[in-house]
Amino acid sequence: MALKIWINDGLVDESEAKISVFDHGLLYGDGVFEGIRVYDGKIFELQAHIDRLYRSANAIRLLIAQNPQTLIKNVQTTVAANDIDDGYIRLVVTRGVGTLGLNPLICKQSAIIIIAATIQLYPPELYETGLKVISANTIRNHPLSISPQIKSLNYLNNILAKLEALDRDMLEAIMYNHQGYVAEATGDNVFIIRKSKVMTPPISAGSLEGITRSVVIKLARESGYEVIEQNLTRYDLYAADEIFLTGTAAEVIGVVEIDGRKIGAGQPGPITGELLKKFEQYARS
Ligand code: PMP
Repeated sequence: MALKIWINDGLVDESEAKISVFDHGLLYGDGVFEGIRVYDGKIFELQAHIDRLYRSANAIRLLIAQNPQTLIKNVQTTVAANDIDDGYIRLVVTRGVGTLGLNPLICKQSAIIIIAATIQLYPPELYETGLKVISANTIRNHPLSISPQIKSLNYLNNILAKLEALDRDMLEAIMYNHQGYVAEATGDNVFIIRKSKVMTPPISAGSLEGITRSVVIKLARESGYEVIEQNLTRYDLYAADEIFLTGTAAEVIGVVEIDGRKIGAGQPGPITGELLKKFEQYARS
């Protein structure tokens, strides 16, 4: 079935959903976005995603042409129009139509695109057997260059790391920052378990403040685990009892191998499994 796509002020058929070739989102990756899950017909953590979208937009001086309440309503309308019960929403705001020059101030109005569809980031069996990853040589964007906290339309930094993984027949890569500390995976946050303690890099290490990450930290603490945000090194990953990744598309997925080294028993660990279950329950509660 063809999708109904929200563009600016209303829904259009997928075949009519078009954006100008002069849109700076296309010409320069000038824009911001969110990926949001729908579980059992409920939009997961919508307010948190909207808040992050406006923070990202603010950071690049992009004025979103709709206020948050209207945008929330339009997201809900798009989900309903496509009959999405379990799915994935892509909410994109571009700088809008400009000219063939960088100047963003020429762009009169941001463009708003809402796609409500489905996503399968990794094959389902990998949630049982675990993911094999590599350490990327491409370092995460320097925070003084472009903050990894901005969820911008320019994902080349992550794409280059993803290509390194794909070149080695792996699906994911761990990215390190300019100081050598773990930042995040190409589209997910990283956690390790060491002696039953849950550890994750601080946002200042160069990661997106993941909404799944925040939920998992909350659920882990509620389950009695100590959660520590601290800089992690490659050694910390190699020596971890368990590693898992979190993200809207990935949800919670165990990592069983990094750079050819087996993690734990070579299958997703027990705490990873417990937190995945808790996450699924929470998402569908
Ligand atoms: N890091 C990056 C680079 C991401 O793109 C994402 C989202 N796909 C995440 C982390 C995870 O964030 P969230 O849990 O909010 O989806």
